[in-house]
Amino acid sequence: MFYKCPKCKKVWQYPIAKCPDCFLELERIKTQKAKVIGVCKTIIPTLLHPKIPYFILLLEDEKGNKWAHKSIKEYKITEDFDIEKSSDKNAVAVWRIKYDILEAIEKNIELLGGIEINQDTKILILPTLVSPTHPYFRDNTSPQFLKAVLEFLFENNLKPENIKVGAESSNEISIEKMAQKSGLLQVCLENKIEPLDLVKAKQDFKPDIILNLPILKIGKASAMENIIKILGKSHAQISKKLGQVKQTKILTLAEAGVVQKSDKFTTFLGLVLVSYNALNLDRVFNEIVMTKDLPEILKTIKIEDIPVVGRAIEEVQH
Ligand SMILES: [Zn+2]
Repeated sequence: MFYKCPKCKKVWQYPIAKCPDCFLELERIKTQKAKVIGVCKTIIPTLLHPKIPYFILLLEDEKGNKWAHKSIKEYKITEDFDIEKSSDKNAVAVWRIKYDILEAIEKNIELLGGIEINQDTKILILPTLVSPTHPYFRDNTSPQFLKAVLEFLFENNLKPENIKVGAESSNEISIEKMAQKSGLLQVCLENKIEPLDLVKAKQDFKPDIILNLPILKIGKASAMENIIKILGKSHAQISKKLGQVKQTKILTLAEAGVVQKSDKFTTFLGLVLVSYNALNLDRVFNEIVMTKDLPEILKTIKIEDIPVVGRAIEEVQH
Protein backbone atom coordinates (compact mmCIF):
# COMPACT_ATOMS: atom_id res chain seq x y z
CA MET A 1 0.00 0.00 0.00
CA PHE A 2 1.23 3.48 -0.91
CA TYR A 3 -0.21 6.90 -0.11
CA LYS A 4 -0.35 9.55 -2.81
CA CYS A 5 -1.13 13.26 -2.81
CA PRO A 6 -3.92 13.89 -5.35
CA LYS A 7 -2.42 17.26 -6.31
CA CYS A 8 1.40 17.12 -6.39
CA LYS A 9 1.40 13.28 -6.88
CA LYS A 10 4.14 12.71 -4.28
CA VAL A 11 4.07 9.19 -2.85
CA TRP A 12 4.73 7.91 0.71
CA GLN A 13 5.09 4.38 2.08
CA TYR A 14 3.40 5.33 5.33
CA PRO A 15 0.03 6.96 5.95
CA ILE A 16 0.97 10.48 7.01
CA ALA A 17 -2.45 12.08 7.25
CA LYS A 18 -1.88 14.98 4.85
CA CYS A 19 0.59 16.06 2.16
CA PRO A 20 3.02 18.47 3.92
CA ASP A 21 3.14 20.69 0.79
CA CYS A 22 -0.51 20.80 -0.32
CA PHE A 23 -2.27 19.98 3.00
CA LEU A 24 -4.56 17.57 1.15
CA GLU A 25 -5.58 14.12 2.39
CA LEU A 26 -3.60 11.33 0.77
CA GLU A 27 -5.20 8.66 -1.45
CA ARG A 28 -4.53 4.97 -0.72
CA ILE A 29 -2.90 3.27 -3.73
CA LYS A 30 -3.08 -0.52 -3.86
CA THR A 31 -0.26 -2.49 -5.46
CA GLN A 32 -1.50 -4.85 -8.16
CA LYS A 33 1.69 -6.59 -9.30
CA ALA A 34 5.23 -6.78 -8.00
CA LYS A 35 8.56 -7.94 -9.36
CA VAL A 36 11.69 -8.94 -7.46
CA ILE A 37 14.51 -6.50 -8.21
CA GLY A 38 16.90 -7.41 -5.40
CA VAL A 39 17.58 -10.36 -3.08
CA CYS A 40 19.58 -10.50 0.17
CA LYS A 41 20.18 -13.75 2.05
CA THR A 42 20.37 -13.53 5.84
CA ILE A 43 22.20 -16.28 7.71
CA ILE A 44 22.59 -14.70 11.17
CA PRO A 45 19.62 -15.15 13.53
CA THR A 46 18.34 -12.33 15.75
CA LEU A 47 15.75 -12.29 18.55
CA LEU A 48 12.99 -11.09 16.24
CA HIS A 49 14.10 -13.26 13.33
CA PRO A 50 15.26 -16.56 14.85
CA LYS A 51 14.69 -18.79 11.79
CA ILE A 52 17.49 -18.71 9.22
CA PRO A 53 18.21 -18.59 6.38
CA TYR A 54 15.67 -16.07 5.13
CA PHE A 55 15.63 -13.62 2.27
CA ILE A 56 14.99 -9.90 2.13
CA LEU A 57 13.48 -9.11 -1.23
CA LEU A 58 13.44 -5.69 -2.81
CA LEU A 59 10.14 -5.49 -4.67
CA GLU A 60 8.92 -3.01 -7.25
CA ASP A 61 5.31 -2.55 -8.37
CA GLU A 62 3.94 -1.53 -11.77
CA LYS A 63 4.13 2.15 -10.79
CA GLY A 64 7.79 1.99 -9.80
CA ASN A 65 7.19 2.01 -6.01
CA LYS A 66 9.77 -0.04 -4.11
CA TRP A 67 9.71 -1.78 -0.72
CA ALA A 68 11.42 -4.56 1.25
CA HIS A 69 9.75 -7.90 2.05
CA LYS A 70 10.97 -10.77 4.23
CA SER A 71 10.54 -14.19 2.61
CA ILE A 72 11.39 -17.71 3.66
CA LYS A 73 11.27 -18.75 0.01
CA GLU A 74 14.14 -17.80 -2.27
CA TYR A 75 13.34 -15.74 -5.37
CA LYS A 76 15.45 -14.79 -8.34
CA ILE A 77 15.87 -11.23 -9.60
CA THR A 78 13.26 -10.34 -12.31
CA GLU A 79 10.89 -13.07 -11.00
CA ASP A 80 7.23 -12.07 -10.43
CA PHE A 81 6.32 -11.86 -6.77
CA ASP A 82 3.06 -13.81 -6.49
CA ILE A 83 1.38 -14.81 -3.27
CA GLU A 84 -0.70 -17.97 -3.34
CA LYS A 85 -4.39 -17.64 -2.38
CA SER A 86 -6.71 -20.28 -0.96
CA SER A 87 -10.49 -20.58 -0.92
CA ASP A 88 -10.25 -23.61 1.41
CA LYS A 89 -12.61 -22.92 4.35
CA ASN A 90 -9.97 -24.33 6.73
CA ALA A 91 -7.18 -22.06 5.51
CA VAL A 92 -5.70 -19.36 7.72
CA ALA A 93 -4.47 -16.08 6.21
CA VAL A 94 -1.66 -14.20 7.96
CA TRP A 95 -0.50 -10.69 7.09
CA ARG A 96 1.62 -8.03 8.73
CA ILE A 97 0.25 -4.68 9.83
CA LYS A 98 2.80 -2.42 8.17
CA TYR A 99 1.22 0.88 9.08
CA ASP A 100 -2.53 0.47 8.75
CA ILE A 101 -4.75 -2.30 10.11
CA LEU A 102 -7.25 -1.90 7.29
CA GLU A 103 -4.60 -2.87 4.73
CA ALA A 104 -3.87 -6.11 6.62
CA ILE A 105 -7.60 -6.95 6.84
CA GLU A 106 -8.13 -6.28 3.11
CA LYS A 107 -5.10 -8.36 2.14
CA ASN A 108 -6.09 -11.33 4.33
CA ILE A 109 -9.65 -11.41 2.98
CA GLU A 110 -8.31 -11.20 -0.58
CA LEU A 111 -5.97 -14.14 0.19
CA LEU A 112 -9.00 -16.22 1.25
CA GLY A 113 -10.76 -15.53 -2.05
CA GLY A 114 -12.77 -12.49 -0.95
CA ILE A 115 -16.02 -12.21 0.97
CA GLU A 116 -19.51 -12.12 -0.53
CA ILE A 117 -21.07 -8.94 0.78
CA ASN A 118 -23.24 -6.25 -0.73
CA GLN A 119 -25.18 -3.28 0.63
CA ASP A 120 -28.04 -5.50 1.85
CA THR A 121 -25.85 -7.99 3.73
CA LYS A 122 -26.55 -7.98 7.45
CA ILE A 123 -23.46 -8.23 9.62
CA LEU A 124 -23.14 -8.96 13.30
CA ILE A 125 -19.75 -8.09 14.78
CA LEU A 126 -18.71 -9.87 17.95
CA PRO A 127 -15.78 -8.01 19.50
CA THR A 128 -13.97 -9.33 22.55
CA LEU A 129 -15.41 -7.49 25.52
CA VAL A 130 -14.45 -9.17 28.75
CA SER A 131 -13.20 -6.53 31.12
CA PRO A 132 -13.77 -2.86 32.01
CA THR A 133 -10.18 -1.86 31.14
CA HIS A 134 -8.47 0.71 28.94
CA PRO A 135 -7.38 -0.38 25.42
CA TYR A 136 -3.63 -0.56 26.20
CA PHE A 137 -4.17 -3.61 28.46
CA ARG A 138 -5.29 -5.52 25.35
CA ASP A 139 -7.99 -7.41 27.28
CA ASN A 140 -10.66 -6.34 24.79
CA THR A 141 -10.73 -5.72 21.05
CA SER A 142 -8.91 -2.42 20.50
CA PRO A 143 -10.88 0.59 19.20
CA GLN A 144 -8.42 0.88 16.27
CA PHE A 145 -9.17 -2.68 15.18
CA LEU A 146 -12.96 -2.28 15.37
CA LYS A 147 -12.64 1.00 13.47
CA ALA A 148 -10.62 -0.70 10.70
CA VAL A 149 -13.21 -3.51 10.40
CA LEU A 150 -15.98 -0.93 10.04
CA GLU A 151 -13.94 0.98 7.43
CA PHE A 152 -13.58 -2.28 5.49
CA LEU A 153 -17.36 -2.82 5.57
CA PHE A 154 -18.13 0.77 4.53
CA GLU A 155 -15.60 0.42 1.69
CA ASN A 156 -17.74 -2.52 0.50
CA ASN A 157 -20.85 -0.29 0.51
CA LEU A 158 -22.46 -1.73 3.64
CA LYS A 159 -24.94 0.56 5.31
CA PRO A 160 -24.49 1.38 9.01
CA GLU A 161 -28.05 0.19 9.75
CA ASN A 162 -27.13 -3.31 8.48
CA ILE A 163 -24.20 -3.59 10.90
CA LYS A 164 -24.62 -4.38 14.57
CA VAL A 165 -21.92 -4.74 17.20
CA GLY A 166 -23.02 -7.34 19.73
CA ALA A 167 -21.90 -8.17 23.23
CA GLU A 168 -23.38 -10.18 26.02
CA SER A 169 -24.15 -8.59 29.35
CA SER A 170 -23.25 -10.55 32.46
CA ASN A 171 -24.38 -10.21 36.02
CA GLU A 172 -20.94 -9.35 37.37
CA ILE A 173 -19.84 -6.41 35.21
CA SER A 174 -22.11 -3.99 33.42
CA ILE A 175 -21.83 -4.11 29.65
CA GLU A 176 -22.06 -0.30 29.50
CA LYS A 177 -18.99 0.10 31.69
CA MET A 178 -16.95 -2.34 29.58
CA ALA A 179 -18.08 -0.79 26.29
CA GLN A 180 -17.21 2.68 27.54
CA LYS A 181 -13.83 1.96 29.12
CA SER A 182 -12.62 -0.23 26.23
CA GLY A 183 -13.27 2.64 23.81
CA LEU A 184 -15.53 0.43 21.66
CA LEU A 185 -18.73 2.35 22.43
CA GLN A 186 -17.10 5.54 21.16
CA VAL A 187 -16.20 3.84 17.83
CA CYS A 188 -19.81 2.60 17.44
CA LEU A 189 -21.25 6.04 18.10
CA GLU A 190 -18.80 7.80 15.76
CA ASN A 191 -19.81 5.40 12.97
CA LYS A 192 -23.56 5.42 13.71
CA ILE A 193 -23.54 1.71 14.57
CA GLU A 194 -26.00 0.38 17.08
CA PRO A 195 -24.47 -1.64 19.92
CA LEU A 196 -26.58 -4.71 20.61
CA ASP A 197 -26.98 -6.44 23.95
CA LEU A 198 -27.40 -10.03 22.78
CA VAL A 199 -29.21 -11.09 25.93
CA LYS A 200 -31.84 -8.42 25.50
CA ALA A 201 -31.81 -8.46 21.66
CA LYS A 202 -35.08 -8.44 19.80
CA GLN A 203 -35.81 -11.03 17.17
CA ASP A 204 -35.73 -8.78 14.13
CA PHE A 205 -31.98 -8.77 13.30
CA LYS A 206 -30.90 -11.88 11.39
CA PRO A 207 -27.24 -11.64 10.34
CA ASP A 208 -25.98 -13.22 7.10
CA ILE A 209 -22.41 -13.11 8.34
CA ILE A 210 -21.00 -13.02 11.85
CA LEU A 211 -17.59 -11.41 12.22
CA ASN A 212 -15.80 -12.87 15.22
CA LEU A 213 -13.20 -10.36 16.50
CA PRO A 214 -10.93 -12.00 19.05
CA ILE A 215 -7.86 -10.24 20.38
CA LEU A 216 -5.30 -13.03 20.46
CA LYS A 217 -3.47 -13.83 23.70
CA ILE A 218 -0.37 -16.01 23.93
CA GLY A 219 -1.14 -19.56 25.12
CA LYS A 220 -4.89 -19.19 24.64
CA ALA A 221 -7.51 -20.21 22.09
CA SER A 222 -8.95 -16.69 22.02
CA ALA A 223 -10.81 -16.99 18.69
CA MET A 224 -12.72 -20.09 19.76
CA GLU A 225 -13.25 -18.72 23.28
CA ASN A 226 -14.98 -15.62 21.91
CA ILE A 227 -17.37 -17.73 19.82
CA ILE A 228 -18.15 -20.09 22.70
CA LYS A 229 -18.59 -17.23 25.14
CA ILE A 230 -21.21 -15.53 23.04
CA LEU A 231 -22.74 -18.20 20.83
CA GLY A 232 -21.99 -21.40 22.71
CA LYS A 233 -23.39 -20.91 26.15
CA SER A 234 -26.76 -19.69 25.08
CA HIS A 235 -26.65 -20.91 21.51
CA ALA A 236 -30.28 -21.98 21.42
CA GLN A 237 -31.45 -18.74 22.96
CA ILE A 238 -29.39 -16.57 20.62
CA SER A 239 -30.22 -18.63 17.50
CA LYS A 240 -33.85 -17.98 18.25
CA LYS A 241 -33.16 -14.28 18.53
CA LEU A 242 -30.83 -13.95 15.57
CA GLY A 243 -32.34 -16.44 13.13
CA GLN A 244 -30.56 -19.62 12.18
CA VAL A 245 -26.97 -19.16 13.30
CA LYS A 246 -26.18 -22.53 11.74
CA GLN A 247 -26.80 -21.09 8.28
CA THR A 248 -24.81 -17.97 9.12
CA LYS A 249 -21.18 -17.84 8.13
CA ILE A 250 -18.76 -17.04 10.92
CA LEU A 251 -15.58 -15.35 9.75
CA THR A 252 -12.87 -14.72 12.35
CA LEU A 253 -10.82 -11.53 11.97
CA ALA A 254 -8.19 -11.80 14.67
CA GLU A 255 -6.19 -8.94 16.09
CA ALA A 256 -2.56 -9.74 16.94
CA GLY A 257 -0.94 -6.31 16.79
CA VAL A 258 -0.02 -5.92 20.44
CA VAL A 259 -0.70 -9.17 22.31
CA GLN A 260 -0.93 -10.22 25.95
CA LYS A 261 1.57 -12.73 27.29
CA SER A 262 0.62 -15.22 30.02
CA ASP A 263 1.84 -12.73 32.67
CA LYS A 264 -0.62 -10.20 31.16
CA PHE A 265 2.15 -7.86 30.03
CA THR A 266 1.93 -7.04 26.34
CA THR A 267 4.36 -7.54 23.47
CA PHE A 268 4.41 -6.33 19.87
CA LEU A 269 3.64 -8.86 17.13
CA GLY A 270 2.07 -6.72 14.40
CA LEU A 271 -0.17 -9.30 12.69
CA VAL A 272 -3.75 -9.86 11.58
CA LEU A 273 -5.03 -13.43 11.06
CA VAL A 274 -8.25 -14.30 9.22
CA SER A 275 -10.05 -17.64 8.79
CA TYR A 276 -13.44 -19.33 8.63
CA ASN A 277 -11.97 -21.96 10.98
CA ALA A 278 -11.43 -20.37 14.42
CA LEU A 279 -9.63 -23.40 15.89
CA ASN A 280 -7.13 -23.54 13.03
CA LEU A 281 -6.54 -19.82 13.47
CA ASP A 282 -5.82 -20.26 17.19
CA ARG A 283 -3.46 -23.12 16.39
CA VAL A 284 -1.51 -21.10 13.79
CA PHE A 285 -1.24 -18.12 16.16
CA ASN A 286 0.18 -20.27 18.97
CA GLU A 287 2.70 -21.75 16.53
CA ILE A 288 3.78 -18.23 15.54
CA VAL A 289 4.31 -17.12 19.15
CA MET A 290 5.91 -20.52 19.96
CA THR A 291 3.58 -21.39 22.86
CA LYS A 292 5.16 -24.17 24.91
CA ASP A 293 1.98 -25.55 26.45
CA LEU A 294 -0.92 -25.52 24.01
CA PRO A 295 -4.48 -25.12 25.33
CA GLU A 296 -6.26 -28.50 25.61
CA ILE A 297 -8.68 -27.68 22.78
CA LEU A 298 -5.80 -27.18 20.29
CA LYS A 299 -3.64 -30.17 21.20
CA THR A 300 -5.13 -32.54 18.63
CA ILE A 301 -4.84 -30.10 15.71
CA LYS A 302 -1.74 -30.77 13.63
CA ILE A 303 -0.11 -27.59 12.39
CA GLU A 304 1.09 -29.29 9.18
CA ASP A 305 -2.53 -30.05 8.20
CA ILE A 306 -3.52 -26.36 8.14
CA PRO A 307 -3.22 -24.45 4.85
CA VAL A 308 -1.54 -21.11 5.67
CA VAL A 309 -1.55 -18.27 3.12
CA GLY A 310 0.04 -14.83 3.06
CA ARG A 311 3.03 -14.98 5.36
CA ALA A 312 4.72 -18.29 6.15
CA ILE A 313 4.77 -19.15 9.87
CA GLU A 314 8.61 -19.20 9.87
CA GLU A 315 8.67 -15.64 8.51
CA VAL A 316 6.72 -14.11 11.38
CA GLN A 317 7.60 -16.52 14.19
CA HIS A 318 9.36 -15.32 17.33
ZN1 LIG B 1 0.88 17.39 -2.36
